Amino acid sequence: MAALSPGNGTKIVAKNPIVEMDGDEMTRVVWAMVKQQLIEPFVQLKLESYDLYLPNRDKTDDQVTVQAAEAIKKYGVGVKCATITPDAARVKEYNLKKAWPSPNGTIRAILDGTVFRKPIVVRNIPPMVRSWQKPIIIGRHAYGDMYKTAEMAIPAPGKVELVYTPADGSPAQRALIHDFKGSGVTRGVHNLDSSIRSFAQTCIRYALSEKMDLWFGAKDTISKIYHGDFKRLFAEEVEKRKADFEKAGITYTYMLIDDAVARAVRHPGGFMWACMNYDGDVMSDMVASGFGSLGLMTSVLVSPEGHYEYEAAHGTVQKHYYQHQKGETTSTNSTATIFAWTGAIRKRGERDGTPELVAFAKALEESVIETIEGGIATKDLASISQPPIQRPATTEGFINAIAERLTQKVGAGLAML
Ligand code: NAP
Ligand code: MG
Repeated sequence: MAALSPGNGTKIVAKNPIVEMDGDEMTRVVWAMVKQQLIEPFVQLKLESYDLYLPNRDKTDDQVTVQAAEAIKKYGVGVKCATITPDAARVKEYNLKKAWPSPNGTIRAILDGTVFRKPIVVRNIPPMVRSWQKPIIIGRHAYGDMYKTAEMAIPAPGKVELVYTPADGSPAQRALIHDFKGSGVTRGVHNLDSSIRSFAQTCIRYALSEKMDLWFGAKDTISKIYHGDFKRLFAEEVEKRKADFEKAGITYTYMLIDDAVARAVRHPGGFMWACMNYDGDVMSDMVASGFGSLGLMTSVLVSPEGHYEYEAAHGTVQKHYYQHQKGETTSTNSTATIFAWTGAIRKRGERDGTPELVAFAKALEESVIETIEGGIATKDLASISQPPIQRPATTEGFINAIAERLTQKVGAGLAML
C-alpha cells in the first residue's frame, strides 16, 4: 500500500462525501482549528457542508438543518459540530425570528435511530467513579418521547383528554388526562413500535459486536402501557437473537430504571446500557462526567437504515467562548470533536473500501491519546490526571501538540499502512 507523506503533496483521497455540519461558539472555533491542522494537511475529503451556525439557521428558517439531515440520508456519513439550542435568552442575544428547535432533535426525528455514547478511556485519567474500570456505552433511543411532543398551558378549569381517531373511520378512543380545577400544564408524547424495535435491534447488534452485556431500564411499573410497550418489544427482539447472545457469552437484563442507575454506579463497567430518549440524555452526561470529562465523550447516531452521524457529546462550551471573544486564553478540550471526525472518516473508509482513510483515523486517535498520556492536556483533564498535570495546555497548544505527533506518524509513512 502507498506510503503517505503530506510533505511531498500526497494526500489520502476520499471517494465519497462526508456531510459536514458546522456549529456555534467555542466548538465552532475548535472545529476550524481541527480541520485546518489535523485533517486538511493529510486527507482530501469530499465535504458536503451545511452551516448550522445559529444565525444561518435563523436566516434559512431552519431549512439548513433539514437539508443537512437529508444529505446524511443520501451519503450515509455525517459529522456535526455542537450547536446552540436557543432559549429566550438566545433569541434576544442573536435577535432571532423565533426559538428554533434543537438541531439534534430535528436530525434525529428525520433519521430515527439510536445514539451511542462511548467514553474515550485514557490511562492517566482515572474515572471519578471508583468502581468503573471499563467503558459503559449508553445506547439512547433517539426518536419521540418528550423530544417530539405537543404541549399546552392550561389557563383555567377544564378537561384534557387523549383522543385517538382511527383512520378507518371506526369510533374514536378517549382517555382522560386530567380534569383541571385551575391552571396547569399538559403534554402529549408518542412513540412508534417500528422505532422501538429498531432501537432494540441496533442496541443488540452493538452489544453483540462489542461482546458486552446488554441492560435496558424503563419504568413499566408506573407506565404500564407506554413503558410496557418498550419492555415487551425489547424482550421480543432479544428472544429472536437468543442463540447469538449465548454464542457471544453475553446476557440481557431488563430492570427498572432506578435500579439500573443504582447498579451502574457500583458496577465495574464494560456493559451496554440501552436507555429511553430522556433517560439517555441524562445518563450519558452522568456517565461522561463519571469517566472524567464531557470532553472525552463521543456520540454517534445510527439510523435503522445504517446512516451514521458523529459528534461530541458536549455543547458549545459557551463560557469558554465568551472568554475567547474577550481575547482571553482558553483551555477547551477538542478530544471529542476530533473523535467525531475520526469516526466519520473511519466509517467513510470502511464503506468505500479505502483502508488508508481507516488507518489515518486510527493514527489521529492514537496521536490524541498519546498526547494526553504524555502529559499535555487541557484544564478539564489536567486537574484530574494521575499524576496531575501542572500546566494545562491552551486550546491551540493541545491541538498543536497533536498535530506534531500526527505529522511524525504520517511522516514515518504511516507505519501502519
Ligand atoms: P457545554 O457546552 O457542554 O459546557 C458545560 C461545561 O462543561 C463548560 O462550561 C465546561 O466547564 C465543561 N465542558 C464541556 N465541554 C468541554 C470541553 N470540550 N472542554 C472543556 N470543558 C468542557 O454545555 P452548556 O454550556 O450548558 O451549553 C452551551 C450550549 O450548548 C447551549 O446553548 C446548548 O443548547 C448547547 N448544547 C448543544 C449540544 C449539541 O449540539 N450536541 C449538546 C448540549 C448542549 P467549565 O466552564 O467549568 O470549564
Ligand atoms: Mg444532555
